[in-house]
Amino acid sequence: MESIQKKAGKVLMHTYNSIPISLVSGDGCYVKDSEGKEYLDFIAGIAVNALGYNHPAFNTAVRKQLNKIIHYSNLFYNEQQIELADKLVSNSRFDKAFFCNSGTESVEAALKLAKKIGKIKKNGASNIIAMKKSFHGRTTGSLSLTGQIKYKESFLPLLPGVMFAEFNNFDDLKSKVDDKTCAIIIEPVQGEGGIYPAEQEYLKKVRELCTKEKIVLIFDEVQCGIGRTGRLFAHEHFNVYPDIICLAKGLGGGLPIGAILSTEAFNQFEPGDHAATFGGNPLVCTGAIAVLTELLDNKLLENTKNVGAYLKTKLTELTNKYKSITDIRGLGLMLGIELTIPAGEIVTKCREQGLLLATAGSSVIRFVPPLIVTEKDIDKAVGILDSVLKNH
Ligand code: PLP
Repeated sequence: MESIQKKAGKVLMHTYNSIPISLVSGDGCYVKDSEGKEYLDFIAGIAVNALGYNHPAFNTAVRKQLNKIIHYSNLFYNEQQIELADKLVSNSRFDKAFFCNSGTESVEAALKLAKKIGKIKKNGASNIIAMKKSFHGRTTGSLSLTGQIKYKESFLPLLPGVMFAEFNNFDDLKSKVDDKTCAIIIEPVQGEGGIYPAEQEYLKKVRELCTKEKIVLIFDEVQCGIGRTGRLFAHEHFNVYPDIICLAKGLGGGLPIGAILSTEAFNQFEPGDHAATFGGNPLVCTGAIAVLTELLDNKLLENTKNVGAYLKTKLTELTNKYKSITDIRGLGLMLGIELTIPAGEIVTKCREQGLLLATAGSSVIRFVPPLIVTEKDIDKAVGILDSVLKNH
């Protein structure tokens, strides 16, 4: 490991404080490091590897496509992209899709589309309201919308015309709306900010306000979308529907893809407005189709709902046992526990016991396992966490 670390230090920019483990293979919900140690993985590449590792149907489909064609430009049609768009729109209330390569790019696309709509439909309105504690990505547009100063302070000033409202506080949001507001962007379940689900009444009022004031409502479901919460889209839990949605992470099952979906009324991009060289290439779309097929046709969505409820029950039992856990939040397989002790220390000890967990801020442990996780895996993970908390 030391030689890997040394080499990384020499050639990589220091953008991550990487854990001194190099993961080399995976199967199901388990990954192995370069020294042969196995870990039960409840991080899943940060809510990405929806089908876990070495998934037979995913691998077969991607391998087959790899042998045909990986990439060509969107100057030409590719049928995988059309099939993927069709699957997404026919299982939602959206009508159109645009594909890019990551979460941050999906937010950039939504931002540009909203600004264009503001120009056409609301006298050039171009201001955006985002939420405090939100996270939307690291490129300058999405970073501008991110409501946590720690990610931004070295890069100010960012985009003008961005305001931040208290999440789940309708009055605060309403007080910031005016005739220059073109869009409101919300994560239906805030992820990086600490796993905070929106309240249904709040989202309903936001929807009404946006419709009344001609404001584009954008939901960033990069982390909470694509089955993660037990529904294909997190907003289905609230019965509140945005005009544009941002997707990425789980969509590609590990292949880099992002997307925005919009309703027909908000489908205002024209040729030349926006593009991505790699966006929606045949290989990544094939992977995404395999993910959606598992979710929608092979009952994975149902599994996510069931095992998500099981995980919540098990974590609630721990909450009742340890005073150091003060809250449990989230939906489906996107759960977090709030601790009075440093979350990072518990995560490190769990890793030593063979369980990979991530934090979301300094006091929250986040649980985002592959959606194929079983009750047996959950028992094992919660058992490890229990023993770590007991001895802390
Ligand atoms: N939006 C949300 C809600 C996210 O959680 C993330 C990443 O964590 C992003 C956007 C950015 O995604 P990416 O890292 O793929 O650019």
